[in-house]
Amino acid sequence: MVLAQLGGSISRALQQMSNATVIDEKVLKECLNEITRALVQADVQFKLVCDMQTNIKKIVNLEDLAAGHDKRKIIQQAVFKELCKMLDAGKPSFTPKKGKPSVVMFVGLQGSGKTTTCTKYAYYHQKKGWKPALVCADTFRAGAFDQLKQNATKAKIPFYGSYMESDPVKIAVDGVERFKKEKCDLIIVDTSGRHKQEAALFEEMRQVSEATKPDLVIFVMDSSIGQAAFDQAQAFKQSVAVGAVIVTKMDGHAKGGGALSAVAATKSPVIFIGTGEHMDEFEVFDVKPFVSRLLGMGDWSGFMDKIHEVVPMDQQPELLQKLSEGNFTLRIMYEQFQKILKMGPISQVFSMLPGFSAELMPKGREKESQAKIKRYMTMMDSMTNEELDSSNPKIMNESRIMRIARGAGRQVREVMEMLEEYKRLAKIWSKMKGLKFPKKGDMSAL
Ligand code: GDP
Repeated sequence: MVLAQLGGSISRALQQMSNATVIDEKVLKECLNEITRALVQADVQFKLVCDMQTNIKKIVNLEDLAAGHDKRKIIQQAVFKELCKMLDAGKPSFTPKKGKPSVVMFVGLQGSGKTTTCTKYAYYHQKKGWKPALVCADTFRAGAFDQLKQNATKAKIPFYGSYMESDPVKIAVDGVERFKKEKCDLIIVDTSGRHKQEAALFEEMRQVSEATKPDLVIFVMDSSIGQAAFDQAQAFKQSVAVGAVIVTKMDGHAKGGGALSAVAATKSPVIFIGTGEHMDEFEVFDVKPFVSRLLGMGDWSGFMDKIHEVVPMDQQPELLQKLSEGNFTLRIMYEQFQKILKMGPISQVFSMLPGFSAELMPKGREKESQAKIKRYMTMMDSMTNEELDSSNPKIMNESRIMRIARGAGRQVREVMEMLEEYKRLAKIWSKMKGLKFPKKGDMSAL
């Protein structure tokens, strides 16, 4: 899971505070110190963290809160709000529309993941019914065209480039013209990421931009540089009209939080994050769902987005509706498992559901997790309808558990483990009761 460590530390700090019998200044201070430590460790700029602490203290004035106020909830909401504020940089300067030709130019340093991200971006939109095309205007790096060609071919996306032409501006213009004629609605221009001097790189970017008049310039950066992202984003912004940012390699770096907050501080909105080398390891970045997921509260809109990609619309509403009803039965758990096993890439979908990420589906152990889910389902196959449809765990007495274990050819201990998993999920889902299926980005139900 993206930033699992940071999210885990913050959720733990909030949990520890919740466990305290009385929430006083000391408990709040400890909780905020823990959160501060976690953010600083993720390389978030110290000043941003201090501002956040001050703001939370202002919102949560324990002395003024009359008895009866749910202090835990108020603190949690304040943390949520402040984290969102820290990562929010507003809307991108332009959002392409399906069916209307748009030119999107990608800029960034070599090695940041720019070429990979161009294809991911094209592939993401292609799956949603767009007609994307890729133009390789990187004539500086030997092999750049081959790489783009290879990626584009794999994803079945039309591409344009040249081995002979050395003028990136000419290639960009020719490619854009050609794909406009072919009625592509998302023409993506990949530019060079490296030159002998920085000034030459920026000059070339400016020339390509002037010649192709992109509707949107996307700056791609590697999250491993942490808060140094601030200076890098500023430098690019000053040279070309950066309208949006994509932060890559969020899968492997503890500094991801630092990078995201640093980019936001330059007022450049992040629109996607890269979470792996594969084409579909790419996620829409929306501040509220992202923070919600970071704190273990689930990411509904990301989940819905993934579901829309893998399950046709007309096949989904029933299960999803049930999930929001809060009456979480074993049958619902079974049905979720069933659907999710079919969905793949399984860990991505799972990680967006509250409670499903770290414990049930640790990254890198997908095979093991799938086997566990299948084992759970075999045990549930030995249950009666009454057991499956009851949301009262008390009906699962000793004789029922023994019968299920015998029926499934499993140990009693394993049935107990499955029921514990159910209880854990049911507890989380009970908090979601009444949740309206949010439209993208709408987390007001939380
Ligand atoms: P460019 O020089 O900026 O065009 O960078 P490339 O697209 O060639 O990517 C550089 C390296 O980063 C390649 O090995 C990519 O597979 C890898 N990469 C790109 N995006 C991601 C990501 O989100 N996660 C991980 N783990 N690797 C990535």
